Amino acid sequence: MTECLFCKMASGEIKPDVVFENEYLLAFRDINPRAPVHILIIPKQHVATLNDLEDATLAGKLLQIVPAIAKQQGIAPDGYRTVINCNSNGGQEVYHLHIHLLGGRKLSWPPG
Ligand code: AMP
Ligand code: ZN
Repeated sequence: MTECLFCKMASGEIKPDVVFENEYLLAFRDINPRAPVHILIIPKQHVATLNDLEDATLAGKLLQIVPAIAKQQGIAPDGYRTVINCNSNGGQEVYHLHIHLLGGRKLSWPPG
């Protein structure tokens, strides 16, 4: 039995607020949103960090779904930001790879 929170979401053991799902990917609303739209996109298979992403096909699927979800959420025309936090300096808290998709307001740059 996995202890990984996002694996539990991928398997359906924990049910997040899902906005998209297919065979390989799950996208759901962040529980602590930092913008009016804050979605997390994960591979269903466990990949701990971006450093561990070796499957180029899966990487392509992850990246390709971003604009589709942005369009679904209505944030594509005004724009949005994608973030992947990696390890401690990157501020990663959940060690299952995820893309943050943030939009619905003007986002400042650079990040803190
Ligand atoms: P990171 O710091 O990049 O690892 O981001 C982890 C994200 O997961 C944070 O934005 C959290 O708010 C989010 N998160 C943690 N637990 C949950 C949960 N149960 N459902 C949805 N999002 C969560
Ligand atoms: Zn996992």
